[in-house]
Amino acid sequence: MRNDCVFCAILDGEVPCFKVYEDDTVLAYLDINPFADGHTLVIPKKHVTGILASDDELLAQVVSRVKKIARHIVETLGADGFNILQNNGEAAGQSVFHLHFHIIPRRKGEPLSFTPAKGDLGRLERMAARLHFEDGAGVL
Ligand code: 5GP
Ligand code: ZN
Repeated sequence: MRNDCVFCAILDGEVPCFKVYEDDTVLAYLDINPFADGHTLVIPKKHVTGILASDDELLAQVVSRVKKIARHIVETLGADGFNILQNNGEAAGQSVFHLHFHIIPRRKGEPLSFTPAKGDLGRLERMAARLHFEDGAGVL
């Protein structure tokens, strides 16, 4: 937990989120300003700033969750594909310095806009209700 870290505040329950998945290692929730419907962030419960600050074991565990959660999202939404986005450093567009992977569902013919939609709380709430799943529901 880092006092100045909004993702640690989410882990701590101080800042609310629209949860998609949680286990001992990661928390996944909808991005508040999505690039596409179902845009999900996967973060480790341990505060590390980015890939280079993470030990290999934690990184491998997080990536295995990213795969599981991405499969669940694609199947649930009937998406045609997805992008994984992972920014390291301000120059690369990182704005929250707690390791996170973006899962961005894609549909054929819909170009990806890097201008996020203004977070519509009702829409996010309905999406979280569709996407939320418990451990065991997905296959690693
Ligand atoms: P980065 O640019 O660091 O790769 O991505 C940070 C992401 O975190 C952005 O897409 C931004 O919309 C999202 N974000 C920032 N603050 C919050 C928050 O309080 N709640 C949620 N759900 N997402 C956030
Ligand atoms: Zn943090």
